[in-house]
Amino acid sequence: MAELDVLFKARRVVTAAGEVARSIGVRDGTVIAVEPLDANLEAAEVVELGDDEVLLPGLVDSHVHVNDPGRTEWEGFGSATRAAAAGGVMTIIDMPLNSIPPTTDVAALRTKRKTAEGRVYVDVGFWGGAVPGNLRELRGLHDSGVFGFKCFLLHSGVDEFPHLEPGELADALREIGSFDALMIVHAEDPHVIDHAPPAHGASYRDFLRSRPRGAENLAVAQVIELARRTGCRVHIVHLSSSDALPMIRSAQRDGVRITVETCPHYLTFSAEEIAEGATQFKCCPPIREAANRESLWQGLADGTIDCVVSDHSPCTPELKRFDVGDFGVAWGGIASLQLGLPAVWTEARRRGHTLTDVVRWMAERPAELMGLPRKGRIETGYQADFCVFAPDEVFVVDKERLHHRNPVTPYHGRPLAGVVRGSWLRGVPIDIDSPPQGWLLNRGGA
Ligand SMILES: [Zn+2]
Repeated sequence: MAELDVLFKARRVVTAAGEVARSIGVRDGTVIAVEPLDANLEAAEVVELGDDEVLLPGLVDSHVHVNDPGRTEWEGFGSATRAAAAGGVMTIIDMPLNSIPPTTDVAALRTKRKTAEGRVYVDVGFWGGAVPGNLRELRGLHDSGVFGFKCFLLHSGVDEFPHLEPGELADALREIGSFDALMIVHAEDPHVIDHAPPAHGASYRDFLRSRPRGAENLAVAQVIELARRTGCRVHIVHLSSSDALPMIRSAQRDGVRITVETCPHYLTFSAEEIAEGATQFKCCPPIREAANRESLWQGLADGTIDCVVSDHSPCTPELKRFDVGDFGVAWGGIASLQLGLPAVWTEARRRGHTLTDVVRWMAERPAELMGLPRKGRIETGYQADFCVFAPDEVFVVDKERLHHRNPVTPYHGRPLAGVVRGSWLRGVPIDIDSPPQGWLLNRGGA
């Protein structure tokens, strides 16, 4: 065998076959050897992991709002991808809204790419957006390499990214189904929310009442029926209401092409513990009761929920309105890109899950769903994106020490298990003080 660029030797490597001791050989950014630990391999550089460290594939986070260009006081490609690298996330897919322009036509995609070029520390792909009136732009966006399309069924939070009415959603699904693209949906029904008591003031219970589970349940049911009718692939983003799991399971059993993600915050926090005015916990759909959280864990365990991704949706501290602590006016979004792995691992191990499970939810399945054939696993032929993880080391989250732009996160002060000690992209360690080496991705590439 020709000489390797780097050889990783670890007593614990998470592979598709579970956790094993392995030597992993890398050449030209690709894994070319997966051998027993004591295999006799030659390499220019040898990286030996400590006894308390595990080699994981780089995580794939398909739900990140980078907000660049246009709202760079909220986030940006440099800060977001430094946070990703520090959190073991080697691939992010950027959401089409909250940046200006939103990614709803090819010109906007070009603007986003130009903005990101040369500034990303990890690999970055892009979602397109489906909004009223842009049906004819969708094919062009698809051909330009977006990973699929995002739509809302109610007000998105920003006026430049309007939502689709059910008829428009059906049209969009028919259109993108014609080239077998993926539609990802923010599923909350606007009419249910219109008739719920509006959120105002510092009470989290009142906020929760303003975004009832019924809004999600009804919207998910609508999406299922439209997916069934059109045959289009659909994906429910940030599922919070566990009530929707039985109908999703039944649709999957019927052969409806539907997949689901949830987020670390729905798996970690509970409504009961959120303090008055603590708007860093505000997101939509909201964090619900502890019993709901346990049912989401059940949905992950039985495979109904495919993956766990961040929905990193940061903003400035001012927009969280800590001055008044009013859930009605604060921006809804949780900043946590760097913390997803320890957050999920902390809760997962408490419930008897393994690192192999976490890797399936946070690397393998997202890569499969996004159509990234060389990411999400440590296996011959895959990209050498790795995270060196110390699963038993505990740390306390300090918002001031995170890399995303603004020091706001509901995890502040929380002890978490699992420290990311190193991140490798295409076989090269990521140094966030050096020029960035990430690539801009197209669907199908890696
Ligand atoms: Zn989002």
